[in-house]
Amino acid sequence: MTYIVLKIDVDTLRGTCEGVPNLIKMLRNAGATFLFSLGKDHTGWALRRIFRPGFLRKVSRTSVLKHYGLKTLAYGVLLPGPDIGACAAEQMRATRNAGFEVGIHTWDHVYWQDNVRTREREWTIAQMAQSQARFIEIFGNAACTHGAAGWQMNNYAFHQLDAWGIRYASDGRGYGPYRPTINGFPLTHVQLPTTLPTLDEVLRLDGLNVDNVADYLLSLTRYSSIDHVFTLHAELEGQKLAPVLERLLAGWRAQGHALVSMADYYSTLHLDSLPLHPIVWGKVPGRSGELIIQPN
Ligand SMILES: [Zn+2]
Repeated sequence: MTYIVLKIDVDTLRGTCEGVPNLIKMLRNAGATFLFSLGKDHTGWALRRIFRPGFLRKVSRTSVLKHYGLKTLAYGVLLPGPDIGACAAEQMRATRNAGFEVGIHTWDHVYWQDNVRTREREWTIAQMAQSQARFIEIFGNAACTHGAAGWQMNNYAFHQLDAWGIRYASDGRGYGPYRPTINGFPLTHVQLPTTLPTLDEVLRLDGLNVDNVADYLLSLTRYSSIDHVFTLHAELEGQKLAPVLERLLAGWRAQGHALVSMADYYSTLHLDSLPLHPIVWGKVPGRSGELIIQPN
């Protein structure tokens, strides 16, 4: 049996309120882990990137406006950023009540993504403490897992996962489960890196579009005897790209893969034989900037 872990990053208020309920319907009979953005929606801050080279080209390819909506893009710029955890706590609880695993994505997505790599311990712990406090407020218990916004972390953040007693998280990209090391010392938690490209990444590749992108992704898992972690976005697969996800789910089932949550997958691992890897930064095709990767 090979597994495909469905890890769902929820970045925005709209994604939480509209994308998540759609995904819950589509994921009947599948396991999945929803990772929530628990504080302010400052998606609009990303508008500043319009003035960076290459962004307009990217917008025209993936149509950020079509997927995120004008209102979401204005949060933090023209409109005050709404507090997602305060506005959508009910929907978050409904996700867990529907049988899905829930965890922490971030407190403030854009702020974390743009800053965490270079920030000091106090800033990092304060950001993470806000997410955890809000998570406990909403769910009544601490989060069992974490998946970093934009696959951006720092050493303090990795240590904090251990301090929280987290046993498994998915904060970077790679090819299989491993135990991260810092200065040569292994951390206690296991990283389950995202192994497959995301839809927005492959849609930037030449020749791929919404009509053939599912076939392309299915070709990556067709003869694969290894397990995979696929990261979805509530704002994409939960909304305009839902038809692509339907085809992926049917295709993966036809290929014989089991669709599972991070918790389910972690429980299948032989923890003693996991490799150790240092924290490394690198690039991924179709995505700008560096992120946490698993070294070869
Ligand atoms: Zn995200």
